[in-house]
Amino acid sequence: MTTSPPPAPHDPSPYQERTDGSYANTAAETFTTAEARHGIVLVTGPCPQCRGEMEIVLVNTVFAGRDDGPAPPPPDGSSDPSSRLFICTCPLEHAGRPEGYSGCGAYWKMIVEVAA
Ligand SMILES: [Zn+2]
Ligand SMILES: [Zn+2]
Repeated sequence: MTTSPPPAPHDPSPYQERTDGSYANTAAETFTTAEARHGIVLVTGPCPQCRGEMEIVLVNTVFAGRDDGPAPPPPDGSSDPSSRLFICTCPLEHAGRPEGYSGCGAYWKMIVEVAA
């Protein structure tokens, strides 16, 4: 008989915008992706910083029948179009969080592979 370990508790540290190279690695192992509908992918998992459940919607759809030419380059100059910016959207409490924000302030870039 096996007992699964209890889920790690949420870390309610004060809100702080931060990133870390380990976030993407952690999230790559724990996040799950599901195609909600064509071109729309739902990514869910525990935030690598605060472990709160977060959910990100990625829209990959390119509308057929309309062509505005090449897409403008991403503002950060990244040349990898499959690399997405993730921001913690944990709904739980983090002290000092600005009005209208959610999450603990953690953000990272991660490549999302979606099975066709
Ligand atoms: Zn978080
Ligand atoms: Zn949190």
